[in-house]
Amino acid sequence: MSSMASGIGGLVISSHVRHVWASSSASAFDFLKPDALLSASPLLQDPNKRPRLLPAPVGPLPPLPVPDEPRPQSTPPEIDYGVNAYLAAGLKPLTARDETLKLQAITYERKCALKKWLSLISVNFQAWEIARRALGPFEPSFACKGLVDSVRDAAGVKASSTLHNRAGPLLRYVKFWKGRGHKCFPVSEGQVYSFFKDGGDMAPTFPRSLMISISFAVHVFGLVWTDDPLRSGRVKGLVASHYATKREEVRRPAFTVEQIKLLERIVMDNGRSSYDRVAAGFFLLLAYGRLRFSDGQRVTSFLLDQPDPNKPELGYLECTAKRTKSQVGMIKKAKVLPVVIPLAAVGLCWIPTWLVLRMKAGLCYGGSVPENEPILPAVAAGGGWTRVPLDVSAASDWLRQLLRHTAQVGPIKVGTHSAKATMLSWAAKVGMDDGPRRLLGFHVKTGDSLIVYSRDAMSHPMRLLVRLILDVKNGKFDPDLTRSGALASELAGESESSEGSTDEECKQVSEEERAVEEVVGEWDPGHGPDEHFARHLVSRCIHKVRDEAGSQLVCGRTISTRFEVLNKKPAFMHPLCSGCFSV
Ligand SMILES: [Zn+2]
Repeated sequence: MSSMASGIGGLVISSHVRHVWASSSASAFDFLKPDALLSASPLLQDPNKRPRLLPAPVGPLPPLPVPDEPRPQSTPPEIDYGVNAYLAAGLKPLTARDETLKLQAITYERKCALKKWLSLISVNFQAWEIARRALGPFEPSFACKGLVDSVRDAAGVKASSTLHNRAGPLLRYVKFWKGRGHKCFPVSEGQVYSFFKDGGDMAPTFPRSLMISISFAVHVFGLVWTDDPLRSGRVKGLVASHYATKREEVRRPAFTVEQIKLLERIVMDNGRSSYDRVAAGFFLLLAYGRLRFSDGQRVTSFLLDQPDPNKPELGYLECTAKRTKSQVGMIKKAKVLPVVIPLAAVGLCWIPTWLVLRMKAGLCYGGSVPENEPILPAVAAGGGWTRVPLDVSAASDWLRQLLRHTAQVGPIKVGTHSAKATMLSWAAKVGMDDGPRRLLGFHVKTGDSLIVYSRDAMSHPMRLLVRLILDVKNGKFDPDLTRSGALASELAGESESSEGSTDEECKQVSEEERAVEEVVGEWDPGHGPDEHFARHLVSRCIHKVRDEAGSQLVCGRTISTRFEVLNKKPAFMHPLCSGCFSV
């Protein structure tokens, strides 16, 4: 009898306790929860005594509201703030969060980044741990501040640029699924896979960037996923193969012989500005030296070796270049790359003139180059050269400007990477053996690392290269005529892809801008009613137009063809010119 009574009593008590803990904290029955209980009693902190002392309530109990149906315990209860709290308070949630965000003492750049993440989280609060924690059953104003603060704290010391870069691919992902009427958070493997299959034109690195973004979101903001897309074999395979095939398609075409000759004429042309002549020579240095743009910028010494002044074409310019980090497949452990550039040229012998031009311009021209001095610096606003390296996209623009109407022959415009491809593609077309070709391109098999250091190893490939250049010069071999069959498939960048004539980089930028405008929406630092804006076509930086005529910007820059004057204010105002906006 007594055992039966205590059995029933235990059942009732435990069900009552469960009910009180599971329902709101505003219950009349103010139980301490286990954690609080532990800290409240020093006795309970002794683990040996804890089990015996865990209390069951004694004495008479109030009437017990026992639920008819057991609560489902497997999934956490849905927090209904999305409907109740915000809407009942008559608030527009995003506006409330925006206000909180704008009051924070952080830079505008960072606010823009946090705004993007807040927009991603508000796609579905339930799918983000950070939102589930920050938004409890509190008042809306607390909730807004709570989420903004939580996101800001979670972002921690991560650079604003990282937050922008990681948000971008996810915004495009959200836009894609939004357009099809689906929520895409929590992230599911099936949706990621479908997105990569049907997501339209993506840059070679885009799928990989999206996977990195998802992983970032999972670890930093607690994005919830189902069936682990990050480990899915078919997703990983698709990412890798997209990268491999797309990169082939968008690879820059090699220079044509005409383009090389034009650059040589520019170096030798007394009528051109010395800036153009120095830059043209730099691109030739990359082409004849088979160098990437970043390698060319890090050349650490020049040595002109011209044994016979009467036959200038027989010499070499010997350089060393510091290795850049990203060189995969290059000689391991080699810190400095020896680069030999033949003085032989398809048109005019340009190297001695170029070195003289550099000397007159105050740039390094012989011997060792001072630490961190770029070979092609940016031009100073007031004339002369800075000591800041010209960045790669500006260099590409300059290169295309130098080549003018010859800049685009095939479906893809030339870029700085065209330079490195040129001699190597000529060598492939003329049928040069793999061994010498790999040495010319600084690619050696693992184990052959030391070979590149030896002048003997390079002398044979260099002789072949000089012969090739002279054959092109004398018209014995025209690399631009050989575009047939088996050879063509071997050639970097020659594939007649379906990319069309639009510039790949531009297209990707505007794709992300559209996603930001659609998913994140309106965001600006505040502006006057009659202000007009212009956007730089390359940097995408937004400036204010100064006057009615629209020839000047507030920051003092002139509106050139590189700016696009905007008809209306961009919805998401970022990035901003710091001269035009005081943010
Ligand atoms: Zn400006």
